Amino acid sequence: MGRYTAAVCRQCRREGEKLFLKGDRCYSEKCAVERKSYIPGEHGQGRRQKPSEYGLQLREKQKTKRIYGVLEKQFHNYFQKADSQKGITGENLLVILERRLDNIVFRLGFASSRKEARQLVNHGHFLLNGRKANIPSMMVKSGDIIQVRENSRDSMKFQELKAQAAYKTPPEWLEVDVDNLTGKVLDLPERDQIDTAVNEQLIVELYSR
Ligand code: SF4
Repeated sequence: MGRYTAAVCRQCRREGEKLFLKGDRCYSEKCAVERKSYIPGEHGQGRRQKPSEYGLQLREKQKTKRIYGVLEKQFHNYFQKADSQKGITGENLLVILERRLDNIVFRLGFASSRKEARQLVNHGHFLLNGRKANIPSMMVKSGDIIQVRENSRDSMKFQELKAQAAYKTPPEWLEVDVDNLTGKVLDLPERDQIDTAVNEQLIVELYSR
């Protein structure tokens, strides 16, 4: 299965809530969830039923995959890794998702969405600890330095992103130097430092069936 490429906003409408997949548009009145709050499709307006327990668990997993832009197989691998670690599996899972390089680029404010971050990483605009890093799923760790490459810094794209980043506040576990388009992972996040609105316990219950 390839990456899901249908209209991005339909994913939010399917989940019945804003997943913030399109950057600035998500905060504007153009947001599709604001304008059409029913499920997409011909019968969308009549399809709201009380979901089963399994349905709720499944939707939570789908929602989380969509927010972080991760496909099923990789998500399952992340879950297995989370389950094998010490601590609370659901929280471990979220920390793993947060450690992806594309997420870190987004969190630092160097992209307006995770999708854009993934594209920018894919195109080789970033360095991780001074080395070229063009794989969005690379796992970042505490102490790592993320920089926009010297050759990319003066591009119109990064000048725009730099201007936007100046108005954003990164989470406390990250440090950002907007002028130099550089960020540092101070520490890995605790659950209460991750603002992703998901109930990770439902995902754990789903995989425990
Ligand atoms: Fe979702 Fe953003 Fe589209 Fe609104 S604008 S539906 S939050 S992706």
